[in-house]
Amino acid sequence: SAKRAQSQSIAVYSDEIEGQYLRKIQLRDKLAKALKANELSVAYQPIVNFRSGKITKFEALARWHDAELGTIYPDEFIAIAEEFGLISQLGEFVLQRALADLSTLHKRGYRHICVSVNRSASELNHLLQPVEAILAALQEHQIATHQLTIEVTESVAIGAHKQVQDQLNVLRDKGVKVALDDFCTGYSSLSNLIDLRADYLKIDKSFTHQLLSEHKHQVVIASLINIASELDMEVIAEGVECAEQHQQLHDYGCHFSQGYYYSKPVSLPQALALLEQANSFADIL
Ligand code: C2E
Ligand code: MG
Ligand code: MG
Ligand code: MG
Repeated sequence: SAKRAQSQSIAVYSDEIEGQYLRKIQLRDKLAKALKANELSVAYQPIVNFRSGKITKFEALARWHDAELGTIYPDEFIAIAEEFGLISQLGEFVLQRALADLSTLHKRGYRHICVSVNRSASELNHLLQPVEAILAALQEHQIATHQLTIEVTESVAIGAHKQVQDQLNVLRDKGVKVALDDFCTGYSSLSNLIDLRADYLKIDKSFTHQLLSEHKHQVVIASLINIASELDMEVIAEGVECAEQHQQLHDYGCHFSQGYYYSKPVSLPQALALLEQANSFADIL
């Protein structure tokens, strides 16, 4: 009967909710332990300068492999870390590891290489010391402030949080670079571009992926690159997966490029190997 079908579907639904809840709690406990035991790692994805065809920077991306559950993806564990108050610990871990690894690259002779780390809304929000912590970490690892970029999403940078903007401005005054991540998703607006002080604008991969099929996207990306340039910002295209996307962005005057076409996020030794093939990307330009 209809009534029975309805009660069955409610039962299935509540099982699913319970399952999701249990996984969340399990991940929360495991993540807390993994952070304490320093079990997370960091992967590095190269960012290529269109002009020189060379890697100038790596984006540091958190990675987590659990012995029992296998690989857990950032989209899942970052949300958990944010919800359960673990995000500042995670952010501190990634920053320390990224700067230590960058210092290794510098010692191997790649002194021009920079690194970027991601920061979530809640990380910048209720901490008052992130600015101090970031500057102290740079000093500890002897990295120049301009060699670190903090990637924040637009919603973080414009949110109602004047405190966050103030912190980003303090960092910028010290020379740290700021990138607007995932631009073209959510509530991107041109007035934000004007109001925000950022050094880089990162075009989200969902937008890059439509570059070849959608004329509208071509127009928006080409215009964005022009607008950003006029506003003294440099554009990083994210999610570049093929030669055609690469060529198109190059023709539009895009400054930097990142995506599987060049390399997936890799370990530090692999990142070093990419740098050693010095002209690896120059010949595809
Ligand atoms: P994001 O900052 O926008 O990072 C780019 C994401 O796109 C990465 O996913 C990267 O692996 C993926 N990607 C890069 N190139 C390509 C491509 O050519 N094709 C496709 N399909 N994907 C590509 P990942 O590593 O899974 O990270 C997802 C998100 O998790 C990041 O997005 C970032 O918002 C967040 N995240 C990662 N690490 C951290 C962290 O340490 N702290 C914080 N707060 N967030 C982090
Ligand atoms: Mg990012
Ligand atoms: Mg992004
Ligand atoms: Mg993204």
